[in-house]
Amino acid sequence: MLLVDRRGRRYLVRLRQHATFQTHAGAVEHDAVIGQLEGSVIRASRGGDATRSPRRFLVFRPTLADVVLKMPRGAQVIYPKDLAAILLAADLHPGARVLEAGVGSGALSMAALRAGCSVTGYEIRADFADRAIANVHEMFGDDVDFTVEARDIYEGIDGSGFDRILLDLPEPWRVVDHAARALVGGGIFLAYLPTINQTSALRDRLAHAPFACAETFEVLRRTWHLDRRSVRPDHRMVAHTGFITTARLLVGDDGTWLETEADGAERPD
Ligand code: SAH
Repeated sequence: MLLVDRRGRRYLVRLRQHATFQTHAGAVEHDAVIGQLEGSVIRASRGGDATRSPRRFLVFRPTLADVVLKMPRGAQVIYPKDLAAILLAADLHPGARVLEAGVGSGALSMAALRAGCSVTGYEIRADFADRAIANVHEMFGDDVDFTVEARDIYEGIDGSGFDRILLDLPEPWRVVDHAARALVGGGIFLAYLPTINQTSALRDRLAHAPFACAETFEVLRRTWHLDRRSVRPDHRMVAHTGFITTARLLVGDDGTWLETEADGAERPD
């Protein structure tokens, strides 16, 4: 459950009978929340500072973005603004077979599962793999099409027929050849990278592999402050997270398309 205080601070709480959620401004009995309608306002019992009136909290079910930002993490998660863009850039849809690496804390896995994909994850660190599986099951229950293997994707991909390959790891260019064998024709390769140096290395590799329609973009999200007398952008924003690169696999190309494309790139307009 998500509790929101008057200052907009958010607390993610798994409700359990007879349990208590302690805040510095009072305690919330889980039993007081269980059975309440979503959107209710509840009061905390008096806390350490008896002179202050007890805090009130709003009660909601958390959104996927709330969960991603608050869940226990081993690795850094992909921010919701980027997850949203990845959903459409990779055209994630119900029934799509997705191969994902590294899985990290499972934020991208959750977005793909929520879109109805079947997700096979490779994660080099077994402890992160366990954490991601726990996070996914906490969010969706056990009836979810998600497996994670503790392995290094640079060494290869087992199986083929994947519709999408999603990569969030440092050297995705080392996966391009494996991806060309594991994806279906027209399948989408997507990589998320923190620096443009890495992105450039990836684009070079893609340009010499049977992929087309390569694109790179970033997402800038600027929130606004809206008060009657002051309507303006907020002073602070997350200025940088990562670059998203996509490309689509070609089949049956004898290299003609690739040569033409490379020639074209060198010719001035
Ligand atoms: N997208 C994830 C975060 C991934 S962080 C999320 O949203 O939660 C990057 C992960 O890649 C780390 O967990 C790291 O252990 C893993 N990793 C790095 N190199 C890898 C490799 N060669 N094969 C598989 N996983 C790898």
